[in-house]
Amino acid sequence: MNNNLKSIEAILPPPHFHMVGDGFRVHNFFPSQPKIGLVGMSPFFLLDYGSKWLVPPSDTPRGVGVHPHRGFETVTIAYHGKVAHHDSFGNSGVIGEGDVQWMTAGAGVLHKEFHEKEFSRKGGMFQMVQLWVNLPAKFKMTPVKYQAIENKDIKKVLLDDGKSSLDLIAGEYNGAKGPAFTFSPVNLFNAKLIQGAKACFRFNKNFNTGMLVIEGEVKINNSKTAPENHFIFFGHDGEDIAIEAVAQSVVLVLSGEPIHEPIASYGPFVMNTQAEIKQAYEDYNNGKFGYLED
Ligand code: MN
Repeated sequence: MNNNLKSIEAILPPPHFHMVGDGFRVHNFFPSQPKIGLVGMSPFFLLDYGSKWLVPPSDTPRGVGVHPHRGFETVTIAYHGKVAHHDSFGNSGVIGEGDVQWMTAGAGVLHKEFHEKEFSRKGGMFQMVQLWVNLPAKFKMTPVKYQAIENKDIKKVLLDDGKSSLDLIAGEYNGAKGPAFTFSPVNLFNAKLIQGAKACFRFNKNFNTGMLVIEGEVKINNSKTAPENHFIFFGHDGEDIAIEAVAQSVVLVLSGEPIHEPIASYGPFVMNTQAEIKQAYEDYNNGKFGYLED
């Protein structure tokens, strides 16, 4: 019996969804859920989870129109469906199934996010995660940057059963490293487990740690069971997590070193002070985030 297990603080069912634009039907696990709040999962600031949704065909792609971001990073993980994005610096691309887009908004960017044209025309299953990863104060005004991480670039670590894998996006597991560059210590990976598979993770005690069950059902620390679309929020009194797949499962694992700095957030901006929020609105209104057509 392992005496160094992280305690399970809560297993949260998906909160009622809300729409982001007309294209993203999301459950917000944080910061809106009081159990986690603004800092409970720091450096992760926001988790919008688009659970499985059968999108009807549409010639006009659904999505969210031009909007700004400053002071953090958006990480979009596509499980089903495709998203097309465009920004005010002329960058664009498609995030396909199994791909991850890691966008450092930093000093500021305008962008729009829509279902990719062909996906929209045909319709189909859509399932996606968008995480906002906060930036330490000294990096909040870093220039905008993209890491388009295609599925083939994700580091796959095979587990002992030879069929289950950990797909590392950022951070490390047993010496293997995920491809994403991060501004503070972050572990982010998908555990893809066949039924009955077991895996163990070890993260620093002080790291904030959670898991989202994307698919299937898992048993945590040989005690509690978390079904699909539930979020497991861990405490700080141990290092290890034992997970067992009750059914074939996909679990998004996130763990990171908290950023102990004040947070001032409003809408699409996450800064340290109210003055910086005001400045962000001024810069936005004065066109300093560039221009992007609707
Ligand atoms: Mn956005």
